[in-house]
Amino acid sequence: MDILSVLRSRLEIVDDCVTSKQLVDRLVARGPLEESLHLTELDTLVKRHYQWLKHLPRIRPFYAIKSNDEPSLVETTILLGCGYDCASTGELKRILGFRVDPERIMFGQPAKTIESLEFAKKMKLRTVFDSEDELRKIHRYYPEAKVVIRFRLETVEDPMRLGIKFGCEVDLEARELLDLAKELGIDVIGWCFNLGHSCINPENFYTGIKKGRELTDYAESLGFKFNLIDLGGGFSGDKDVSIDRYAEQINRGLDEFFPAELGYTIVAEPGRYYSAAAVTAVVPIHGKRMIRNKENPKEIENVFYFFNDGIYGTFYSARYRGKGVKPIVWKSQSEWGPVRKTTFYGPSCDGIDFFAKDIDMPELGVSDFVVFENQGAYSRVHSCRFNGFCPPKPVTFVRKSVWELLEETSEGDATRIVMDSKYLLENDNFEKLAFE
Ligand SMILES: *Cc1c(COP(=O)(O)O)cnc(C)c1O
Repeated sequence: MDILSVLRSRLEIVDDCVTSKQLVDRLVARGPLEESLHLTELDTLVKRHYQWLKHLPRIRPFYAIKSNDEPSLVETTILLGCGYDCASTGELKRILGFRVDPERIMFGQPAKTIESLEFAKKMKLRTVFDSEDELRKIHRYYPEAKVVIRFRLETVEDPMRLGIKFGCEVDLEARELLDLAKELGIDVIGWCFNLGHSCINPENFYTGIKKGRELTDYAESLGFKFNLIDLGGGFSGDKDVSIDRYAEQINRGLDEFFPAELGYTIVAEPGRYYSAAAVTAVVPIHGKRMIRNKENPKEIENVFYFFNDGIYGTFYSARYRGKGVKPIVWKSQSEWGPVRKTTFYGPSCDGIDFFAKDIDMPELGVSDFVVFENQGAYSRVHSCRFNGFCPPKPVTFVRKSVWELLEETSEGDATRIVMDSKYLLENDNFEKLAFE
């Protein structure tokens, strides 16, 4: 079956006028459920893509599928003609299975297994390096590889410290590595960095491009011919953060250091930018416990709610990646109880399985629903079998006009079709679910 038919079988098409709020209402109306639901709106992903093309016209998006590899999202990005950032043979095989041209794939793993290097050689994939040992491994197992050097940009605000795990130091170490690559005869064709997490300060992109220019000049002095630059990921995916804030700094950097007439291919690896806002978690409360003050039992100190979804499901990032949650109470304000200190627990026996602590919330009851926006990135992909609970269940919708647009993409130039879409031109905003 072709991608379009497979995708069609996974989703429900709704009229353009159906709002996100109405979709949540529909799911809630089904009543308490065993698993939490991931309301997935493909429209949101398509709008994100449209905004990317509009604001960053020189940069080809290579979707980082690790952020969310749900079939419906991956298939939509295939129809849109995205490229891919893959870090494992599993991800590579998945994408190559769609017959994506290896030119549209970056095997972005700086510490590869020998088996994956041999696979990359067979498929003629580009890859990256950031250390002497990796260069020697590439030299031994895939000497004809085209590779990019990954350098790091140290940013104080990155709580995940991605800058420390991968990437060489950009001034001295990167030059020594290029010297070695020259000696080994490895074809280095460009550079990459990954700011990671949600890059809070967009100026980091400008700094990275500037550093990349210095490195390019050095490489060209050694006789390398650079033609690929890769700006990595780290673009916020939340509905209320627009791509403008990055585009301004990036376009300024590119115009200054890599103007269009020089003909470099420029890519970036957005993950959460594409996936986060597309998913709204709709989670029923299935248990509740009032915690009373020891001295004064009349006083309620905290309310514990138990959900069938926690850090082993949707909320790993909320707990451990500093994302936090903004719960939306899904019932009319007239039915809210008094505001109390509140803690949200996941279902497992693990005491650390909570994802909000001591927040102020109106009191709710068992079988009420709480809704969390922007839960599409680094959520369900983290879910595991611990304690036998179900992973969150995706329920996917698309508006009629967007579906028609996806149908068209399978017959022509996807980028043109998206850019020329009158529907997207008029509907590129995002509906927020929070009640005012
Ligand atoms: C995870 C990752 C990305 C995507 O990061 P986001 O913050 O989701 O945009 C891009 N590139 C590399 C190398 C990564 O490891």
